[in-house]
Amino acid sequence: MRKQIAAANWKMNLTYQQGEKLLNDILKAKISLSDHQETIFAVPFPYLIMANSEVANEKNYSVAAQNCYNKKSGAYTGEVSTEMLHSIGIRYCVIGHSERREYFSETNEQLATKTDLLLEQGIQPIFCCGESLSVREAGTQNTFVETQLRESLFHLSGDQLKNVIIAYEPIWAIGTGKTATADQAQEMHAHIRSVLATQFGNDIASEISILYGGSVKAANAKDIFSREDVDGGLVGGASLVTDEFLAIIQALK
Ligand code: PGA
Repeated sequence: MRKQIAAANWKMNLTYQQGEKLLNDILKAKISLSDHQETIFAVPFPYLIMANSEVANEKNYSVAAQNCYNKKSGAYTGEVSTEMLHSIGIRYCVIGHSERREYFSETNEQLATKTDLLLEQGIQPIFCCGESLSVREAGTQNTFVETQLRESLFHLSGDQLKNVIIAYEPIWAIGTGKTATADQAQEMHAHIRSVLATQFGNDIASEISILYGGSVKAANAKDIFSREDVDGGLVGGASLVTDEFLAIIQALK
């Protein structure tokens, strides 16, 4: 069975102390995860080492960075490289979040490079894709997402792709309280898997975890995660509230 994942995306929220308390409160609940389940906390850069040591003794709880730079090293003031993340023991990194694509003009091509640099360091990318409201209204969301996947991931070998996690996040559902219906999520996830199958073959496509993101909360997680091609969620707002996120972890298949 492919991995089922509850990923918290804290974004630019919480002080260090608040983050540490939230993490402690969630871990204190001692929700045990089976071998095919994982909980990942994507925290701001200054909290990575703290978060990694908090989860160190918890089975199947991990930490992710929220971004990395698309150059190996050098004179790029303020940026963080994949090698730096590897050197502090980080195993996952979110890339291509729609907020980064929008506010920091990240391109599919840059994300292809970030993917390569992460995989070189043995870090699994959590690759975000998803369409805006205007694309959805025009009915062209399938080709839009397909282009994102093709331009950022199709240069990989099948063995490399196996280390990539996909997060489908329709932009119109992020932080808006508007969730895609479980049917809409399943429909796009099945499409993503079939696009991957065409390029990499069925066996590899069936092993890739595809997370849904966009206003996931305790009240809708079970329904959305129950769908065949939905392998958990990437959660923003609700991941900042202990009881909400605990319920989301418990909604994993
Ligand atoms: P949201 O954010 O759960 O607050 O909609 C999801 C995300 O942007 O990852």
